[in-house]
Amino acid sequence: MNTKTLFKRLAENNTFLISSHQNIDGDGLGSMLAINSMLRKIGKKTCMLYDGSIPYFYRFLPEIENIIFYEEYEQGNSCCDWDVFVVVDCSNPERLGRVDQFRKKVPIVVNIDHHPDNHGYGTMNYTDYTCPSSSLMIYQLVKEADIALDNNLATYIMTGFITDTGGFQFVELESGLLSIMNELIKAGASVATIMRYVFKYRRFEALKLLGKALDNMKYSAQYHYALTYLTRQDFIECNSLEEDVEGIVDYGLHISDAEISVFLKEIDSGLFKVSLRSQGRINVLPIAHHFGGGGHFKAAGFKLAGNLPQVISRVNDFLKNYLENKNTTLIPQSETYPVTE
Ligand code: AMP
Ligand code: MN
Ligand code: MN
Repeated sequence: MNTKTLFKRLAENNTFLISSHQNIDGDGLGSMLAINSMLRKIGKKTCMLYDGSIPYFYRFLPEIENIIFYEEYEQGNSCCDWDVFVVVDCSNPERLGRVDQFRKKVPIVVNIDHHPDNHGYGTMNYTDYTCPSSSLMIYQLVKEADIALDNNLATYIMTGFITDTGGFQFVELESGLLSIMNELIKAGASVATIMRYVFKYRRFEALKLLGKALDNMKYSAQYHYALTYLTRQDFIECNSLEEDVEGIVDYGLHISDAEISVFLKEIDSGLFKVSLRSQGRINVLPIAHHFGGGGHFKAAGFKLAGNLPQVISRVNDFLKNYLENKNTTLIPQSETYPVTE
């Protein structure tokens, strides 16, 4: 669905529920806040609802305090019936957690997303996997609607873009993208501020945890991938929070000839969340799909049950096979992030 049709349909309705994926990141938050702000500017009633906790380093985002947590909703707050449920940056609706129930209760479900494995679960789907961030898709919608960018809107869109491009690293900044960035900066987005919060502003305990992860790291010079992990015990020893792992997976790609970085985080005793990152040549999405997860060509994830040695060996076995096999999928270079228009 194009932005013109989508905006027309949005404008015809009045009340909107907005949500995004669990383990929320700067693009999920930026996109939620951006669509919320856009809809409010055209006089709509909105409610942002999220099932999970929000990492402290995203608290700099204006109006983030307006996001309602699922627990608050259950305790009976002001949210009512909605005409439209807008889901942003979420490839698979199961990742909405308990908010997923509203897909069946709200008449119109709008799915706005840039994940390649989004199967179009909405009654209206605006999907574009060539777009570097979902927030940039909302930028296109804002343009279509002829809504002026203000400081907040520009900050939300920029935060999504900066988060998903690793601070302009995973995308070639050509003139089309640069002119959008320029427009966002003119409207008041501060790149320095956003970069500081998204990538640097961390608790001391987060650095201690990073130290453990670096210590646990193994590198396969034969297969060119780094693998590390953190157990519940590591979290206890460092007095760390769940969000303290943000960015740890990227460190494996600092190794000069690493193609892939793998990070296993024990989320419960005997259950691991596995994060995959690619330097840009090898497609990690089939690896995540093999284990029942999803994501992008260069960043994907899945969950895996077992104890630490079991999980490590299952991942190692699969990866070695995948990387050795001549059928290993490479990222289609023509499809890595041209500007959407
Ligand atoms: P993460 O490693 O958690 O930062 O996730 C990287 C990318 O993979 C994100 O785009 C996520 O949406 C996606 N992803 C991570 N875990 C899963 C999962 N269990 N199922 C589907 N997609 C996932
Ligand atoms: Mn996201
Ligand atoms: Mn995203």
